[in-house]
Amino acid sequence: MDEKPVMLIVDDVDVNRAVLKNLFQEGYELVEAADGQTALAVMASRPVNVVLAALEMQGMDALELLSVMKHTPGWMEIPVVVITDRSNYEGQANAVEMGASDFITKPYHPTVAWLRVRNVLGGHENEWRKALQVAQDQEIVEMQHSMEKDVLTGLYNRETFLRKAAELMQAGKDILYDIVYFDISCFKVINDLFYMDTGDVVLKAAGFYFPAAVGDEGLCARFEADHFVICIPDSKLDMDRFMQGLDDSMKSLGINHKIRFFAGIYKAQDAFLPVDRMCDWARMAMCKVKGSYAQRYAYYDEGMWEVMLREQTLVRDMELALHEKQFCVYMQAIYNMEQKRVVSAEALVRWNHPAIGTILPAYFIPLFERNGFIVRLDRYVWEVSCQFLREQKDRFGEVLPVSVNVSRLNFYNLDLLQFLMGLVEKYGLEPWMLKLEITETAYMDEPEKIISVIKEFRARGFAVLMDDFGSGHSSLSMLKNLPVDVLKLDMSFANEVGHSRRVNAILKFIMSLSKELDMQVIVEGVETKKQLDIIESLGCYDIQGYYFSRPLPAEEFMKVLEEQNRKEGTDEDEGLD
Ligand code: C2E
Ligand code: MG
Ligand code: MG
Repeated sequence: MDEKPVMLIVDDVDVNRAVLKNLFQEGYELVEAADGQTALAVMASRPVNVVLAALEMQGMDALELLSVMKHTPGWMEIPVVVITDRSNYEGQANAVEMGASDFITKPYHPTVAWLRVRNVLGGHENEWRKALQVAQDQEIVEMQHSMEKDVLTGLYNRETFLRKAAELMQAGKDILYDIVYFDISCFKVINDLFYMDTGDVVLKAAGFYFPAAVGDEGLCARFEADHFVICIPDSKLDMDRFMQGLDDSMKSLGINHKIRFFAGIYKAQDAFLPVDRMCDWARMAMCKVKGSYAQRYAYYDEGMWEVMLREQTLVRDMELALHEKQFCVYMQAIYNMEQKRVVSAEALVRWNHPAIGTILPAYFIPLFERNGFIVRLDRYVWEVSCQFLREQKDRFGEVLPVSVNVSRLNFYNLDLLQFLMGLVEKYGLEPWMLKLEITETAYMDEPEKIISVIKEFRARGFAVLMDDFGSGHSSLSMLKNLPVDVLKLDMSFANEVGHSRRVNAILKFIMSLSKELDMQVIVEGVETKKQLDIIESLGCYDIQGYYFSRPLPAEEFMKVLEEQNRKEGTDEDEGLD
């Protein structure tokens, strides 16, 4: 855009100023002053390229104005054109003598006046244009910089990365490059739990780490929020070391929360594919491991594409499904061998998808744990379970407790306990009726935090169960720190019992330990009579498994309870006889 030069018109007669304005408004940006003093104030407040000043004015006149300007750095270069009457030759001579660049005379000849001012400015115009050009160039450089870089971290932004990575990969013909996509699990939590700028501190630290670790032969970018992407020669990438370094740099921040990056890697065999697709693939690989305990990074493989498409469908439909009650709560009996009856149940969710059919939780729970939807789904399942308990109470007068699964993401919600208490109250229940199952891996993530929440649950009267105990990461020694009421042994125990003497021995040991620690044990996944007999012989009496019952729709399970009540009632009657 071509900016107009600024002309300051100084005259104490309004009409005179109006005439000049009319004459020059086409080519100039006009400012006015009614005397020399005001003119100086205007020049002090904004840049001016040329001054037109009446020779005679009330207050400070043109000659005085000239004298001040010619002694003031910054103003001495501004050309001044003095306006006089045509016959005032003395005035014209004085003005030029004092340093005026030229004069124009009244009455004006428009073309002559216009040309004289233009010529005066011409000499200065080059300087002025040059200065403007320099300022504009500087502005362009700064704009380009801010357009290329992310302000917070100083890393490239998405667009720049995509362009530069393509150039880099295509130029290095014999070099195999990797695209690695990084994301922090539960980054939002960091902002929720701490001050807002704690999140910024984390991102800035990552902004330091990535370029240092990647070196000169690669590129780093922040795509959005907590998503970082690098492009690096495959030969330079040691993922274990990279992740370790990242962990160390996060640890050094001293934030009282584990900040865990997850990563996905795409090996760019063909450097001419669109880089944004490569990033999508790397991200897809990352999504596979995000939030998992054991695995922190994964490589892209072809099958992931299909999985992603399927997951996209589920994510698209999940809100509506919750709204339309497509999620159904099934109940699976937990049977006590000594009492020979069902003693409680576990609530397990299924998704009756209108197009796909029934979907088991293995297909959507990990997905919902990644996108956070699990918190709403869990709350829905808890509420349905409370309704089920209420119905039991109304029908039978007594209640068998129901266990619900509590995904670890719930622990980041500060109102978790209140929510549960609210449900119990709403349905006129007592906390012991709703048992809370927390998976073993949740304890591993942030033991102190989870333990303190569990203590609160128990103080309010909820029983806490450790789900999938022994599925991989727990150690027996952690039991002494865990204030849980029940251990639910992972299915692998029931599966292997009878096949492995080691498993039998471990099971036996867990049983004696649990007695010592006053914990109940439930064995999950018992499918055969043989398994049942061995497990019973080891002193476990609480069993959940297909041998007794598969998970049933809640109404069907209610019928099982009805039957049990009826039978027990009959037995009692018979006993009385
Ligand atoms: P889980 O909590 O350990 O639940 C037990 C799983 O074992 C259930 O699988 C159940 O159907 C299955 N099972 C029970 N007995 C046997 C058996 O004898 N043999 C075999 N092979 N399997 C048996 P399901 O319903 O597919 O649920 C899988 C997992 O999904 C659950 O494991 C739980 O971690 C999660 N899940 C289910 N419902 C919910 C929910 O409402 N919220 C959350 N957060 N997670 C849920
Ligand atoms: Mg469970
Ligand atoms: Mg389990």
